[in-house]
Parts: sequence; structure tokens; C-alpha cells
Amino acid sequence: MNKFGGIMMKHKWGILGSCLVLIALLGGGFLWSQSRSHTTSRPARQNRVKWQATESKPVKKAATAKPWIKLKQPLKLPILMYHSISSGNQLRVPKKQFASEMAYLKQHHYRTLTTTEAIRALTTNSIPQKKVVWITLDDAYKDNLTNGLPALKKYKLHATINAITGFTHKHNHLSLAEMKRMKTTGRVDFASHTVQHLNLDELTAAQQKQELVNSKRWLDQHLNQKTEMLCYPAGRANATTHRLAKQSGYQIALTTQEGFATMKQGHYNLSRLRITPGMTTATFADLIAVTNR
Ligand SMILES: [Zn+2]
Repeated sequence: MNKFGGIMMKHKWGILGSCLVLIALLGGGFLWSQSRSHTTSRPARQNRVKWQATESKPVKKAATAKPWIKLKQPLKLPILMYHSISSGNQLRVPKKQFASEMAYLKQHHYRTLTTTEAIRALTTNSIPQKKVVWITLDDAYKDNLTNGLPALKKYKLHATINAITGFTHKHNHLSLAEMKRMKTTGRVDFASHTVQHLNLDELTAAQQKQELVNSKRWLDQHLNQKTEMLCYPAGRANATTHRLAKQSGYQIALTTQEGFATMKQGHYNLSRLRITPGMTTATFADLIAVTNR
């Protein structure tokens, strides 16, 4: 080893020593910061986790449960009464008018109830949101599919069709296959409008019972459901009809009496709002407007 080499060796040890000191300093610093983070930042992190846990729970609940508004005053429910969606007489509402009315409901944030929801609203005096309507179409005309369903689909609304179960083979009425198809869309449900569409108040109790029980059984079996609502043909019913409707397993029944439905009228005597051809959207808006609180 020459002189130069000796200097280099000395220098090498010097560098090595400096490195060791540096490592020791860095290591010490790291440990110090670790111990600091244990005493100060860990509780902070725990708090954050705890806060997140308590905050996220109600959010999740609100997304799934959606509590209904319990009303202080008795519910006044607008139940709209349509029949055929076509033109020609006072019972037929033109396709264009029906579409305008559906557009109005959508634009003004109405929720269109299903039969199950309407029964819940009436019997528990509560609503899923402030503005609600229940759309009903009597007689199950074929044009409910061709002229009515497109608007329901377009505006994502729901309607209830009151079917005459003995008429499903008639050319201008919905067939069972068509009813099934409509039900599958989720935009329509079906209730009973009896078997033969006779004036119930003119029948004997036994005849009435047949109309009520057989139509319910047909719908229950063919549409795989528990039919909960009865709609009286031409709105005609008497005290016997009310008693038999309850006995047959219906929760509520609808008439053609004009007005908002309230439970004061009785479960089996609920009023509706007739929608007539030529009615302006402004008249329609006034007719269905009600404040429930
Ligand atoms: Zn009818």
C-alpha cells in the first residue's frame, strides 16, 4: 500500500462513519415520528372512522326504507277515472289528451300509486310523498295497451286497470296474454271489475257473490296475484255489495261518485275523479290539486 492508498483507506472509513451516523439519525428520527404518530394521530384516525360509521348508517337507511309521511288530517286521495283511451264518446279520452295529462303528472312530480300503495295510503293515513294520484282505467279496453301504455312508459308512471274477467276474449278488450304482457312492464296492475259488468245492486246476494268471487279467483290465478281492489260496474252497489266485497277478500272498492277518496266514505265506497274528453290540462290540474298535511 502506498501513501496515496493509505489516504484513500482513511477517507473510506471516514465516509463509512458518516453514513452510519446518518443512518442512526434517520432511524432515530423515524422512530421519534412513529412514537409521535402513535400518541397524536391514531386517536384522530379512530375518531374519523367512528364518525364515518355513524354518518354512513342513516344514509344507507334512507336509501332503502323511505319512510312515508304520516298525515295529521285525513288523506284526500285523487283517484283518476279513465275508460277507453280513444275518441268517440264521453267515456273515451283521446290518446293525445291522455299523454298530455301523463306529461303534466311527470312534470309536476306526482307519484302514481299502485293498488297496494293506494290501500296502504288510505288505511294508514300516510303518503310516500306530498303529491300522489292513483290512475285507474275501467273495463280493460285493448286501447289501454296500444294508446295508454306508451305514455305510462314514456313518463315512468303507473296505472291500475279494472278488468272484466268474462270479457277477455272480446276483440276490443285485453286478452289474458296482453294483460300479462302489460303487467310485466311494471307500469300496470290489475283489479276486479267483476265477471260480466252487471249492475250489482240489481242482482241477488248470491249472484253478486259469484261476480265478486269468480272475478277475483280468475285474476288471482291467471295473474298470480292477490287481488285487493274491486271496482263496481257503473259505480252501482248497495249495502249487500259492500258486505260481500269485504267477505270475498277485497280491501277496498271504488265507485263513480265524484270527488277525492277519503276513508270517511267507507272502505267499499270510495269516490273518484272523472277525466272527460276535451278537458284542458289546466282543468285537469285544478281537478286533481289537493294539499294533504
Ligand atoms: Zn265499467
